[in-house]
Amino acid sequence: MAKTLIYLAHDNLNRRKGALKGADPSKHEILFVESQKMLRGARWHKQRIFFLLSAARHFAQELRNEGFIVHYLKADDTTTGIEKFSSKFTEVIAAEPSSYRLTESLARIEVRFVENDFFLTSRKEFIGWANSQKALKLENFYRWQRNRLDVLMDGDKPEGGAWNFDEENRLPPPKLGYKWPKYPEHLRDEIDIEVLNEIQELDLVGEVEDSTWGTTRSAALAQLKRFLTESFKDFGPLEDAMTKESWAVHHSLLSTYLNVGLITADEVVAEAMKRFRKGGVPIASCEGFIRQVIGWREYINGIYWFFGRDYRDSNTLNSKRELLPLFTDSGKTKMRCVSETISQIEQRAWVHHIPRLMVLSNLAALADVNPAKFLTWMREVFIDATDWVMVPNVIGMSMHADGGRMSTKPYIAGGSYISRMSNYCGDCDYNPKTRTEKDSCPFTTLYWHYLARNGERFRKNHRMFQQLNGLKKLSDLEETIKRGDFVIKALERGEI
Ligand code: SF4
Repeated sequence: MAKTLIYLAHDNLNRRKGALKGADPSKHEILFVESQKMLRGARWHKQRIFFLLSAARHFAQELRNEGFIVHYLKADDTTTGIEKFSSKFTEVIAAEPSSYRLTESLARIEVRFVENDFFLTSRKEFIGWANSQKALKLENFYRWQRNRLDVLMDGDKPEGGAWNFDEENRLPPPKLGYKWPKYPEHLRDEIDIEVLNEIQELDLVGEVEDSTWGTTRSAALAQLKRFLTESFKDFGPLEDAMTKESWAVHHSLLSTYLNVGLITADEVVAEAMKRFRKGGVPIASCEGFIRQVIGWREYINGIYWFFGRDYRDSNTLNSKRELLPLFTDSGKTKMRCVSETISQIEQRAWVHHIPRLMVLSNLAALADVNPAKFLTWMREVFIDATDWVMVPNVIGMSMHADGGRMSTKPYIAGGSYISRMSNYCGDCDYNPKTRTEKDSCPFTTLYWHYLARNGERFRKNHRMFQQLNGLKKLSDLEETIKRGDFVIKALERGEI
């Protein structure tokens, strides 16, 4: 009897979801394609490529152990690989791809899509919600999710009496000597080593020695358990803190596994709620974590599909600057917060949401870097950087390149924010408190430079009123702009 071929993308690694749901070894064969075009088409971080390939190969092995015939093919590109096999099968099926690029490629050949159910909110459900809103506010979406999914609810009221505990969840890092949890380590097996040897011939960036990331479902489950046991309790209050003493703070590190399907949002939420119900975890920590999983993650995916294919090309502020040298080389800056963040990325392809947003993206926005160029770099260097994650986060949230379609105001800040939320500034050559001196923090100078450059555009935005009012009161605006021009030129040369 002819079988159906299931094409499994590298982010569909789950037996219960997508095209594998209900699959049967007597009726289905599985195909993975390692696209050489993808592997050689960008300067990816080594950890990212290692993780994606090794996780897929481990998963292929698990499916073989279950009795499936699995074809693991290296081809010029995905469609060439599928076409090589498809004629022998009655049909080819796949989960709806998680990016526009793959959707367009697969649409050119005969592939039947089944629903992508790797999220708690289907694309149709998100569109229904979005069309019922005047503005696409995350907070409203999150409350809708809490109600709809019945998570942390007390009837129709939020459990604990509030929808969020943001005030409690914005603490700076604790004093030096605080006991941080140990970092995860995963021993590498034969498949991992085979992948590590193979990727040596590719033109990749970063380091691969660090063993933070596991490549199997059991590693993902172990990471979830580790988070719930060691970090969940203290996650909330310190979730925005940055410290030279801990690169992970109390973050779960689960996005890497969630974004390829090794673990799913429904099981993460169920386990987190089970742990919360046992007691000992403050509601602020539980709510902060639940918000990231059922709120932010789902909202970002919904926005990616709702705004459409061309959203990634938005550039409302007409920013044209090339990517700054410090993004690709931590040695190209004396700014302590930036060099620390970039060297963490070089090591393990990951930093948490605040260094991503308030250090890297903040600097890119303040220095007027072209959003598409910054987006490409973010996609290349983060281990969890799927297209649906990075496009809304960079274009909408951090660069404000969409003119406010997603976030009504730009996420920009001077050095005082970083000084408050980290312990980097004490060791830095620059002073976060000044803007016109020789040693003034580049963030502080450029914050005012940004407002002066774009003030007219934000004049009618009431959420920017306070900042623009501050700008009006600056007695040294001319000197600040002059120093801002100098800072941008020095950043372009990798000299600041
Ligand atoms: Fe970063 Fe400015 Fe602080 Fe230096 S002074 S660590 S550049 S925020």
